[in-house]
Amino acid sequence: MMENLIGETHRPGRIEVVCGSMFSGKTEELIRRMKRAKFARQRVEIFKPSIDKRYSDEDVVSHDKNIIPCTPVDSSATILLLSSDMEVVGIDEAQFLDEGLVDVCNQLANKGVRVIVAGLDMDFKGVPFGPMPALCAIADEVTKVHAICVRCGALAYASHRLVKNDKQVMLGEKTEYEPLCRECYQKAVGKEKCEEDAGTAENNA
Ligand code: ZN
Repeated sequence: MMENLIGETHRPGRIEVVCGSMFSGKTEELIRRMKRAKFARQRVEIFKPSIDKRYSDEDVVSHDKNIIPCTPVDSSATILLLSSDMEVVGIDEAQFLDEGLVDVCNQLANKGVRVIVAGLDMDFKGVPFGPMPALCAIADEVTKVHAICVRCGALAYASHRLVKNDKQVMLGEKTEYEPLCRECYQKAVGKEKCEEDAGTAENNA
């Protein structure tokens, strides 16, 4: 993996971003890096937004049930308060945190902390999600991971929402989203738009 390219022994303070669509293995990659650091007896801590209550409050649980300890936080400022003694700080589902996270990550990295941030790059409409685009910009290293398109097997581009709901923050499992490549995503969204327009025309008639 790419993170080895940056000299870990010379300057530990840095920001790594792992981003991608749902089912791309972002959390698994975050956990892999955190476990490796923990094995090297580094002081590690994972934070995630308290909004993500799909699984346990105390653990980061990836979709394949790899469990490591974790602290839920309400805001990015809390991460700064709680990570004063940490060597490696992991942040999962960062797209749900506030824009202040960008500054928090910079402050931690400047103090010598290795910060690993995982999150959705885009929401279900294909729009950059929360602080993720800014985090990608300030990161020392960005790893974009991909799911597989469930319709054609190409690399997925976005998480397509299967249920009708316009809210950006909607946590989901496989029943509510599907990873699609750009082409299949365009087709799916185009078809929904057609159906919507047809529905409106019917209502107006
Ligand atoms: Zn496809």
